[in-house]
Amino acid sequence: MRGATLDIFVFRRAGTKAVAGRLLLLDDCPAMKEIERSAAARPEAKVAWVRPAVAALEGYAPGEQPMAGSRVIKLNTNENPYPPSPAVKPAIEAELDRLQLYPPPDAAELRATAGRIFGVDPEGIVVGNGSDELLVLLLRTFVEPGAGVAWPVPTYSLYPTLAAVQGAVVREVPFPKNFNLPAGLNSVEAALLIVCNPNAPSGTAVTTAPLCELARVRRDAVLVIDEAYADFADENALELVGAEPNVVVLRTLSKSYSLAGLRVGFALTTPAMARELHKVRDSYNVDRLAQAGACAALEDQATFRHNRDRIRATRSRLREQLLMRGFEVEPSHANFVLARKPARSLEGLVAELRCDGILVRWFASLPDALRITVGTDDEIDALLAALDRRASG
Ligand code: PMP
Repeated sequence: MRGATLDIFVFRRAGTKAVAGRLLLLDDCPAMKEIERSAAARPEAKVAWVRPAVAALEGYAPGEQPMAGSRVIKLNTNENPYPPSPAVKPAIEAELDRLQLYPPPDAAELRATAGRIFGVDPEGIVVGNGSDELLVLLLRTFVEPGAGVAWPVPTYSLYPTLAAVQGAVVREVPFPKNFNLPAGLNSVEAALLIVCNPNAPSGTAVTTAPLCELARVRRDAVLVIDEAYADFADENALELVGAEPNVVVLRTLSKSYSLAGLRVGFALTTPAMARELHKVRDSYNVDRLAQAGACAALEDQATFRHNRDRIRATRSRLREQLLMRGFEVEPSHANFVLARKPARSLEGLVAELRCDGILVRWFASLPDALRITVGTDDEIDALLAALDRRASG
């Protein structure tokens, strides 16, 4: 394999360089020149006025989003491969004539719809500009700078970045090998605990009983259950919403409702907790188009179920096929799988797939693994064919 590596640097306050990521580029890959050009154009700027906590950050690196119109198979950021409900477009179009007006600040109609669909009290719902915004709100509302936050690892790599911006002390508790809830969460010093369930990037899930127990043991802390992928699982923790006063369940329309581009998420909790979160959020944090589109999507449960079921079926087939190709793959409860070749770096394979026009996610912290989003059946067939070609080539 001929090629080169391209380090992506971030520049710390004193001007020292830290490698934030590394792309392995192959000589015959047309994407190479484009990436090199944009990297070369990036200025080496230092900012004197920035808070030390921010200067020290490397920043979250989201998965690559190719330019509109590029013909790639995108299996890297856990988006839904199917379009959203056909009701979404007309609902958004109807709002276009009202863009001179601010959106409803309390998102009352959307909260009422979401309350009905999720079976929770609308007064306990906070709508966010994606659930990522709700994570920020939770940290700002419940975590004083210097206080602890904790979660099992490996997990969603955005949490540490958001915690660092808030000046929180991060205490990561490793998952055991079987990905059960780690006992360390019962005693770790933290004002806020986050459990991503189903977990990313492992795709594993814990049942609701230990989460309920954790919420009861940890009445000294807020327990956030990040259910971004729960619609693809067999179980969820909605029964804890309102029943356990310190529990906040996060949901998003980005995955199971095919609306990653619209940016709508929900925090589901008690009305008392929601009131505190509302004080901290921007009054107009969810725009008019997003509120209308989100309502329409939630109302169309038939499209949601159809797409979810297709993804679950393709997920089983993808896992079976990867197992046949010698990967280790835990059963997944999400819309992605984690495929491992223990003790082998898969960084080169990711670069090769990229040259075949297939994007999957690779993490430096899990070098022997690929996180593969469940795409359409055709997309998964293309991935499997590319894996076979690369294995024999
Ligand atoms: N939580 C997890 C575990 C996720 O993977 C994601 C998506 N990257 C989010 C939350 C954020 O989703 P949203 O698009 O609603 O901000």
